[in-house]
Amino acid sequence: MPLLVVGSVALDSVETPQETRHNVLGGSAVFFSFAASYFTSVKLVSVVGDDWPDAHTQLLKSRNIDTAGLQVVPGEATFRWRGKYLPNMNDRETLEVHLNVFEHFDPVLPDDYRRSKFLFLANGAPMLQLKVLEQAGGAQLAVADTMDLWIREQRPALDQLLRRLDGLVLNDSEAKLLTGEENLVRAGHIVREMGPKFVVIKKGEHGAMFFSKHETYVLPAFPTEQVVDPTGAGDSFAGAMMGFLAERGEFDPVTLKKAMAYGIVVASYTVEAFSLDRLKGISRPEIDQRLSLYQKMLSF
Ligand code: AMP
Repeated sequence: MPLLVVGSVALDSVETPQETRHNVLGGSAVFFSFAASYFTSVKLVSVVGDDWPDAHTQLLKSRNIDTAGLQVVPGEATFRWRGKYLPNMNDRETLEVHLNVFEHFDPVLPDDYRRSKFLFLANGAPMLQLKVLEQAGGAQLAVADTMDLWIREQRPALDQLLRRLDGLVLNDSEAKLLTGEENLVRAGHIVREMGPKFVVIKKGEHGAMFFSKHETYVLPAFPTEQVVDPTGAGDSFAGAMMGFLAERGEFDPVTLKKAMAYGIVVASYTVEAFSLDRLKGISRPEIDQRLSLYQKMLSF
């Protein structure tokens, strides 16, 4: 089943202790769409300026991602993010965020997009996420991501959004910030009580935790020695997770757990190179092979 995603499309500059890259393809909706495209067809809704290289759109199209909802606004600049990783390659500092054309993005979904059964509101302002949710009346599963910026600066809108979501994906420090709770197990359930039926807390190199009313579990990350650039790991985790759910057309607890495992496996590819460099070279059989290796590691 098709999957609709709304979020940022960006030009990222990334500094790691080893290397720096400027203006590479990034953005929450880009990593999400690319990862999801190994499982289902994806409709991408976002906005860029006229500095956006058309080659990036062609790359997305080559993975069967529908870019009809990617607006190009003349005279405006694309969203830009600059970040720096600490030597542990897990923690990062945001050095610059220029929302640019993304700041006033006001998407109007075409009719056929409104009927999408699977919806992901990738990282973006909660007001924008709410506007999309209101238009996507056909969504049977609506899941969102958020970040520290919005938790700090747009809390009332975020609270409103949380009450209407089926699922929320966020990282460990964001869960602590949102709840004021240091214990992640307690934090996960507190976030769940704010509205979403399930909550996923991503923990970078330590994997991800799942919380619903009836289940609490943790899945480790797929062990990889080659961590070149973790940017987009969280978004590609969510992309593979939602992609698999959309492919199956269901989201019962067993399917959700397998979807989490796919998320972890696909994210382990993302970190192995800058931008989409590793993700664009993989195939579904390769993903499935790594998934079965992961499954073997976990059986005892
Ligand atoms: P992740 O590493 O999965 O948390 O995602 C990193 C991506 O999120 C980068 O490609 C950025 O372009 C994008 N990003 C960073 N800050 C924001 C923001 N405030 N709103 C939307 N997207 C963002």
